[in-house]
Amino acid sequence: MRLVWFRNDLRCHGHTPLTQALAGGDPVIALYLLCPRQWDQHEVAPLRRWYVLESLLELGDNLAAKGIDLHVLDAGDFDGAADTLAGFVAEHGVREIFCNREYPLNELNRDRAVARRLEQDGVRLHGFDDGVLVPPRTLSTGKGTPYTVFTAYKKRWDQWMDDADRCAVPEPAWPQPSGSSNQGRFHGRDRVAALRDGLDLPESLTRPWRPGEAAAYRQLYDFVEHQLGDYKRYRDFPAEPGTSGLSTALSAGTLAPLDAYLAARRALADSGAREGAATWIGELAWRDFYRQIMHRFPALATGAPFRPETRLLQWNDNDGHFQAWCEGRTGYPLVDAAMRQLVRTGWMHNRLRMLTAMFLSKHLFIDWHRGERFFMQHLIDGDFASNNGGWQWSASTGTDAAPYFRVFSPIRQSQRFDPDGRFIARYVPELAELDNDSIHEPWTQPLLCPDYPAPIVAHKGVKEHVQQAFRQAGDAW
Ligand code: FAD
Repeated sequence: MRLVWFRNDLRCHGHTPLTQALAGGDPVIALYLLCPRQWDQHEVAPLRRWYVLESLLELGDNLAAKGIDLHVLDAGDFDGAADTLAGFVAEHGVREIFCNREYPLNELNRDRAVARRLEQDGVRLHGFDDGVLVPPRTLSTGKGTPYTVFTAYKKRWDQWMDDADRCAVPEPAWPQPSGSSNQGRFHGRDRVAALRDGLDLPESLTRPWRPGEAAAYRQLYDFVEHQLGDYKRYRDFPAEPGTSGLSTALSAGTLAPLDAYLAARRALADSGAREGAATWIGELAWRDFYRQIMHRFPALATGAPFRPETRLLQWNDNDGHFQAWCEGRTGYPLVDAAMRQLVRTGWMHNRLRMLTAMFLSKHLFIDWHRGERFFMQHLIDGDFASNNGGWQWSASTGTDAAPYFRVFSPIRQSQRFDPDGRFIARYVPELAELDNDSIHEPWTQPLLCPDYPAPIVAHKGVKEHVQQAFRQAGDAW
């Protein structure tokens, strides 16, 4: 018996473990381990849990329709995975397990424990790398060290992607119907549905999202056909539907990164779409970059900054300021609109993630770990590698090649990327009546927006303060 162990790859398309397991003609069953305590420990956003559980329900139904049984078991947390799996494997006479590798530290430790446990029982574990385009240990500098600067990494990444003969993973050879029915069974469906219902999320929060692989692939092809060509032009404007919105699907694995890449690569042949497609492929490379950083610097998963000297920064512990940031009451319209977007929808535009992260860690000089955690508590696409990478980049404790005094002006960013204030007005209705100029600086028209707070800190002087703090930390190191 062969087993496909699904984790963050909740799909049938573009799934090498499934295709490989079914290739042999042996009977195949599938498994998913629920780890709700792990979700609690990592403070996974309720909306993200909902997306995963809904996608799992779709996957189980799809597999059953193709004649494959899916078993969903409760392992509690990652520590319980090895025993739960070993019991299951023994009960079902499994000799080989097929799964995609996961690279964060806790997941690696879980898989090492599983491999040790199964080795004793003579069960073979086959790992694949569908979660990334380039596996995290593939590319190294000439000195054999990991790439820590994105531009250099991207150059090698492009070469590797060009050289590698990458084609879509073949569709699995589904079992032939035997007898009158080819229906598999979905064991544990009720438990999944009960967990989902227990989240008790308001319909207004879940309504805009479409979990599952069918929706993810539809969204990919829609994006490639209608928006990819203009991606470079519109991707920085949060009021426009300029980006793919595929981060949730990519992070839960309802969409295979390779299928996303191949769809964009095909568009490179179209001169009208080439520029947008090349830029978008660059974003997929960022995703891989942060995964290899996380994998090759495992201390990051224990809270360490990438630049060790920044451990010595003396952050402000101003709870009032932190609360104002969380609630979108900083007095800077685009920062506030972004934070309200996050809390209200479970998602935030990339430019605004950079802006709000920089605002917290530079203007308020509050420890970036607090913001990283708040994002994970709310994001539907919450993903340790990308979130940690994005936060450390913004706080200048990470891999950013630019000097540490890069500080976005919340006013300038607002004027550039939301020039007519449309995005601000959507999330900060107190400012909706202001004209296109004053909506970025509402303190110039206090009588027109009496309910909106004055800025909690001044922008002037921030760069100098940050520069000095980093210099002191560097000197003390
Ligand atoms: P598109 O612009 O359409 O890009 C396509 C895909 O490329 C995205 O879906 C995503 O998978 C990947 N991508 C794009 N930008 C980045 C990036 N800067 N780093 C890594 N991958 C990228 N992304 C997450 O998936 N989960 C997170 O928890 C997360 N936290 C972030 C926190 C901060 C502070 C910052 C600055 C960025 C974070 N990002 C995170 C990256 C990025 O903001 C989102 O991936 C992007 O906004 C998702 O929107 P999209 O799918 O429309 O992206």
